[in-house]
Amino acid sequence: MEVPNYGMMGQPVQPGYPMNTASPMMPPGPNYPPVMNPAIAPGFYPPINTNPLVPQNAPYPQFSGIPGYEGMAGDGGGKFLPPPPPVVGPGPDALPTPSNNDWTIPSISQETAKQALLDYVSGQCCYGSSPVQEMAIQQMKPFNTYRYRLETFTESRSCDWTTKPLTNEQLDGPSNGPAPQPWAIILEPPALFHDETKKQPVPHTSSKKECEECHGKGKIICQKCNGNGRVKCEHCNGSGRSAGEECSQCSGTGSDGCKTCHQTNVQTCPGCAGKGQVISYIELTVTWKNNLYEFIPDHHSEFNTDLFKKVTGEKIFTDEQLLVPPLLNFPDASINQASQTAVQQHYSQFISSSRILKQKHSIEWLPLTKVEYSWKGKNCSYFVYGRENRVETKDYPSTCCCVIL
Ligand SMILES: [Zn+2]
Ligand SMILES: [Zn+2]
Ligand SMILES: [Zn+2]
Repeated sequence: MEVPNYGMMGQPVQPGYPMNTASPMMPPGPNYPPVMNPAIAPGFYPPINTNPLVPQNAPYPQFSGIPGYEGMAGDGGGKFLPPPPPVVGPGPDALPTPSNNDWTIPSISQETAKQALLDYVSGQCCYGSSPVQEMAIQQMKPFNTYRYRLETFTESRSCDWTTKPLTNEQLDGPSNGPAPQPWAIILEPPALFHDETKKQPVPHTSSKKECEECHGKGKIICQKCNGNGRVKCEHCNGSGRSAGEECSQCSGTGSDGCKTCHQTNVQTCPGCAGKGQVISYIELTVTWKNNLYEFIPDHHSEFNTDLFKKVTGEKIFTDEQLLVPPLLNFPDASINQASQTAVQQHYSQFISSSRILKQKHSIEWLPLTKVEYSWKGKNCSYFVYGRENRVETKDYPSTCCCVIL
C-alpha cells in the first residue's frame, strides 16, 4: 500500500527517526532548511559527541505529536538516536567494593629467576649458558607493578533510509501500525564485552518506490564502457601494436568489444536488480562496543612498560556490575586514582551517546623482578616479567658461544 505522507525527497515520513544531511555536531537552529516551518522546529535535542555514520538519503520528517518523539523531527541532529535515561547513576549508586580484599602480592623465587634466564638463553641462537650455571645472584628486587583495566560495554543506535530491490515479500508498511520507538526495538545482545554491529529494518516503515538509480528502467549505462560498447584493448593497452607487430587481439584497432554489456551499452541496474522498483525502509544500526581504559603505574625501574603488552599478569581483583564503583582501598594510591579517573571518564563519555550495558574492572599483578648477579667478576642484571617469566636483558655476558673458553 502506498503511503500518503511523503517528505521532501519522496520518502515516507516516520516519527522518531530523524534523518538528515546535517552534521550531528551542528546545533539545531540556523541550519534548518528554508522550507521548514520554524514553528515545528524541535525544542530539545541532547548533545552528541560522535556519530561516525554520515546520513545520505534524507527527507525532513514533519512534526509529530507522538509522545517520545517531540523535538526529534527534522532537526540538525542527524540520525543518531539518543539512549533512554540510565536506570542507575554513576559510581556511588553501584555496590561498594568489598573492603576485606586480601591484597597479597606474590613474588618469584631465585630458582624461578634462574630457570627463566636459562630458558631465555637457550632460545637465543648462540648465547652460552655458562653464566647462568655459574652466576651468583646478589639481589632480587621486586617491583610491585599492576595493570588496572576498566571495560565499559556500550550499545548505540542510529538509523537511516535505505533501499533494496523489490521482492515478493509482503511489505511491512505504516498500515501495519506505527513504527516502534528506536530503543523499544528488542535485539538480542551479543556476547558481553565483544564488539559487534547489527543492522535490521525498522518495522512498519517499508514502502515501494521507483528506483532512483535507473529512474524505473531497470537498466543503467554500462559502467565499464560508459555506454560506448567498446573498451581499450587489454592485450596491447590500446596501442594497436604488440611486440612490434599489429595486435592480433584487436586487429590493430586498439579497442575491443565490451564484455560487461556484450556491446548492448547498458547493464542491469544494481540498485533494483533490474526490477525498476525498490523497497524503501528505515534501517536501524546497532553497535556494541567494548571500551577499554588501561593504566600501568610508574614502577621506577628502567624496564620498558610496553613489554607488558605481550604478557599476562595474575588477576588479583575483578568486579563486574552494571556500573562499577571506583576503587578506593588498593594499597597503591595511583591505582585508586586511575580507577576514579577511568570510571568518571567512561561515564561522562558514554552516558549521553550510548547505553552502558555492563562494566568490569580488574587489577592484574604484573610480576617484575630485577635480578642482579655477578659472573667472573662482572656485575650484570636482567628482568623477569609477566606470568610467562619472560626475560629482558641488555648485558648478558656471553652473547656468542664462540668466545667462551
Ligand atoms: Zn590490441
Ligand atoms: Zn559495456
Ligand atoms: Zn534501478
